[in-house]
Amino acid sequence: MSGLSITPYFSFARVKLVSQNVHLQGEGGGTLIHLAPDDRYRPRCHECGHPGTVHSTGLRRILRDLSLGPAQTFLDVQYRRVWCPACGRAVVEQLGFADTSRRITHRLARYVYELCQVMTVSDVARHLELDPKTVKAVDKHFLRQDYGRTDYEGLRILAIDEIGLHHGQQGYVTVVLDYLTGRVVWLGPGRKAETLDAFFAGMTTEQKQGIEAVAMDMWEAFIKAVQTHCPQARIVFDLFHVVQAYGAVVDAVRRQEYKKADDEQRAFIKGSRYLLLSNRENLKADQQDRLKELLAANHRLSAVYILKDQLKAIYQYGSHPWAKKALDQWCTLAAEVEHPLMRRFIGRLRYFEYGILNHCHYPIGTSRLEGVNNKIKVLKRKAYGFHDSEYFALKVKQALPGVQLTTKTG
Ligand SMILES: [Zn+2]
Repeated sequence: MSGLSITPYFSFARVKLVSQNVHLQGEGGGTLIHLAPDDRYRPRCHECGHPGTVHSTGLRRILRDLSLGPAQTFLDVQYRRVWCPACGRAVVEQLGFADTSRRITHRLARYVYELCQVMTVSDVARHLELDPKTVKAVDKHFLRQDYGRTDYEGLRILAIDEIGLHHGQQGYVTVVLDYLTGRVVWLGPGRKAETLDAFFAGMTTEQKQGIEAVAMDMWEAFIKAVQTHCPQARIVFDLFHVVQAYGAVVDAVRRQEYKKADDEQRAFIKGSRYLLLSNRENLKADQQDRLKELLAANHRLSAVYILKDQLKAIYQYGSHPWAKKALDQWCTLAAEVEHPLMRRFIGRLRYFEYGILNHCHYPIGTSRLEGVNNKIKVLKRKAYGFHDSEYFALKVKQALPGVQLTTKTG
């Protein structure tokens, strides 16, 4: 048995194991490992790492370390104050295995960080019997290290959208995604032009000039910000958002038709909102039959419904002139459906035409941001809350690192 030793498990620099107390009761209990300075090495300054000379001894601190089997493990560390010639004063010596400010070792902190990727803060705290505040502080510390800086390197195509966290204007965050990798590049509260200004503020001129295209909704604040910072970038309006905006026209016409219909017609129109606004592929067989009957019975609804499909079809052109022709035709046909909302929609479509036709050059959209939406729902369920918006943004960035396209250097 003389070959057994716990020393290899505590191969920390510049300290040696002195003794060990074990108190095991059944499956629980703990072990206390006493560590003392190893005099063969010169102590170092914890601030600058410079070797110093011993100034005073006798300081002690208890640190929590990774468990040994079922035993919670604590380190009773003796350490010293050193005179640092570089700092010109007496400072606490550097312990390579722990921060002077923390009550847990580096390797336990790392373990906490890893667990926090798959467990909630309170679960990790319960599992390791640590204070939830400590767990969160450790998680945030490493997250800041790994995701705190906005990485603008190699960005060419962006997708930008706002995500509603809770009701009201205050409840929005703007998310910027690297379209090509799926990485969440940036998250910021609000959805104004100034919100995005903050994102662009960290970019170099060269990086701004490197942005070729940006997918987004027809949202003036975002358009303005992109045009200001990246005037060369092609803005592409997302198909889903355009069709969604058209949905308001469909619904308005449906309500109008319902009002003027007789009882027989009303039976068809009643409860048809979902049928008209959903994608046909998502309807069940009986719903598809009902939709068919409705469109056969009402000429005007049939017209706005066909226009919905034709609006989507504009996005299928790869040629700019052909797409432009299809859009012109669409507007002519749509003008025949007399409704103030339709007139307004046509006006909007004309106004934002450039960004719809840009889809021919960059066939992109914001649907990839759905992944972000889903992650946010998961994080919300895990009760991270939005009180600490920095922590929340870091968690989202960590959850959506994207796929690596090229090997990064440096
Ligand atoms: Zn120093």
